Amino acid sequence: MNQLQSADAAVIGGGIIGLATAYHLARRGRKVVLFERNTGAVGASVRNFGLLWPIGQPPGVAYERALRSRETWRELARAAGFGLHENGSLHLAYAADEWAVLEEFAATAAGNGYGGCGLLSPRAALEKSPGVQAAGLRGALWSPSEMTVDPREAVAALPAYLAGKFGVTFRFGTAVNGIDFPGIRTRDERWRVGEVYVCGGADFETLYPEVFAGLPLTRCKLQMMRTAPQPGGWRLGPTLCGGLTLRHYAAFRHCPSLASLHERVRREQPWVDQWGIHVMVTQNGAGELVIGDSHEYGLCPSPFDQPAIDQRILEYLVTFARVPDLRIAQRWHGVYPKPTNGATELVLHPEPGVTMINGLGGAGMTLSFGLAEEVIAGTYAPPEGGFQTK
Ligand SMILES: Cc1cc2nc3c(=O)[nH]c(=O)nc-3n(C[C@H](O)[C@H](O)[C@H](O)COP(=O)(O)OP(=O)(O)OC[C@H]3O[C@@H](n4cnc5c(N)ncnc54)[C@H](O)[C@@H]3O)c2cc1C
Repeated sequence: MNQLQSADAAVIGGGIIGLATAYHLARRGRKVVLFERNTGAVGASVRNFGLLWPIGQPPGVAYERALRSRETWRELARAAGFGLHENGSLHLAYAADEWAVLEEFAATAAGNGYGGCGLLSPRAALEKSPGVQAAGLRGALWSPSEMTVDPREAVAALPAYLAGKFGVTFRFGTAVNGIDFPGIRTRDERWRVGEVYVCGGADFETLYPEVFAGLPLTRCKLQMMRTAPQPGGWRLGPTLCGGLTLRHYAAFRHCPSLASLHERVRREQPWVDQWGIHVMVTQNGAGELVIGDSHEYGLCPSPFDQPAIDQRILEYLVTFARVPDLRIAQRWHGVYPKPTNGATELVLHPEPGVTMINGLGGAGMTLSFGLAEEVIAGTYAPPEGGFQTK
């Protein structure tokens, strides 16, 4: 057996939550080792849109956390050398109930702390993006706060930066199969650490399975697509989404007209709730359009994708977006853990010295750096109705 090695902190999981945790630990001068089972991260953190999406978060703690995360993403993109586009977002309204929700949101936006967003006329929306479908457009909500990264690029660049700048030790291709705190044993090594952060994403079976087993938590499978780079350097500008997105994000829940929007969609488009579809399109630095997504819940997601879901997503997309080349170059699905009690995250201490950070659902890119900072700085407070820290 190899010699015993030591670190102040071990992070398990090389997705965005593990990387954000390692960053905030290392910035505070801690000696960190990060273990990732695969030879590179291949989980939700590289399968997502790459959207840093404050506008979708509920007002208050989550929105503020998203804004703090956003600042860190900005700093890290510069320092680690990955692309980040401050492209903002447009929510496009074509139906009367969609426009009513946008008006209600906009009327309360400043009071709820959503800075800088406002309603646009159809003409002003078309000026923001050449990708907006003009036919039937009633207007749009513009928000400047959203940004886009290519998650494959960002998640690949961060380990090299953290190793070079802060001396974080990375052990890729290294599963942690059990923790005997303060000891960690891997196939080849033994470590003694001061604290452990378990950021294992959708793996609920390997570490502390007894803790996961008792939690109101499920998994969510999402289907996604990507085009080839758009011809002639065509740029979409802001990320675009349509009326279905207003049903998806908590930020719009207080809008009175949401009820009739829900009702109409249930009546006219039953496939939307059958597959949990809402549709967004963004563009990465390579010019590719990233399009999704669906939401199918259950602890054992099917390994088999459904072409009918992709078809519905593309049919809905063209109701609000016009792009030069919609031929799909890649299709995939991703899976993330999703609290079923409405919590926005899970931060638990299964035993003294060990912290689990998980359960950020569809907002892990958006909230990662802000949440990790609160946990490491000791300022994190579990929300009412969320998971309670023991
Ligand atoms: C299709 C899709 C689209 C999304 N779009 C967005 C978006 O646009 N914006 C946004 O904010 N969020 C988005 N999300 C959500 C976001 O991607 C996730 O919340 C986030 O990536 C979760 O990060 P994570 O580090 O917890 O999990 P993961 O990325 O899954 O990382 C966990 C890692 O832990 C490793 N691991 C687990 N157990 C062990 C072990 N025992 N030993 C060693 N390693 C281990 C795994 O191999 C894995 O690499 C999306 C998610 C999906 C799936």
